[in-house]
Amino acid sequence: MNRRHTFSILGGGALLAALGPAAARAAGDAAPWGYDGAEGPAHWGDLDAAYRACGEGTRQSPIDLAEATPADVPAPAVRYPAMPLDVTNDGHTVRVAATRGARLDPGAAAGAGWRLQQFHFHHPGEHTVNGAHRPLEIHFVHTHPDRPGYVVLGVLAEAGAANPALATILDHAPEKAGGSAAPDGVTVDPAALLPPAGARGAWRYHGSLTTPPCTEKAAWVVFTTPVTVSRDQIDRFAALYTGNNRPVQPLNRRFLLRSGG
Ligand SMILES: [Zn+2]
Repeated sequence: MNRRHTFSILGGGALLAALGPAAARAAGDAAPWGYDGAEGPAHWGDLDAAYRACGEGTRQSPIDLAEATPADVPAPAVRYPAMPLDVTNDGHTVRVAATRGARLDPGAAAGAGWRLQQFHFHHPGEHTVNGAHRPLEIHFVHTHPDRPGYVVLGVLAEAGAANPALATILDHAPEKAGGSAAPDGVTVDPAALLPPAGARGAWRYHGSLTTPPCTEKAAWVVFTTPVTVSRDQIDRFAALYTGNNRPVQPLNRRFLLRSGG
């Protein structure tokens, strides 16, 4: 079942809607979007002027990762401490807010000191390899105090042993869209959602956010080694969100690199 997030513009914003997207955004709203039908991915670029890149962009995400060029790039350095759990069901996914101090050095030209803002989940996974989706994909979204755009670290998950961090998140994820939970004394260790330190080869390419507004200043690092989550965990996530994955986008004239590890 897909869920669709609706914003307050539908509640009392008929006037704002009549004034158009710019007025709506001025009031802090953007057009609702989803994964189905008239608000689905094929229409995102038409729903709101702010979403134009979703339809017209040429460096969009996700992509298929099969046609990669081998490259000698250092492994990304990830420093994610355990943090107090702060989890939100935002109507499109389950999202965990990061506390200060979680950092990423992507290991390439993007520079060090990228700060983890949040991480969230897609079911099935968004990036494919030869067209095959993993059952789950985790996106760690980073920003930088001195640089524009984003670095997104992607982790693919396959069925296997249960993941302790995902267990904590699922135990507290609100069932209703718009709900948040930050239970006293509960911590989550995002590093448990990463492959082992010795297995951090990665695909890298320049793409976009995979949800509106599909912003194209996003450097992607996707680990080639998947982590495991249990079938039960996949089913529990699927009870909240199924099909919250954007279809793969054309690579166009972009480099897709793959480093070892
Ligand atoms: Zn995502």
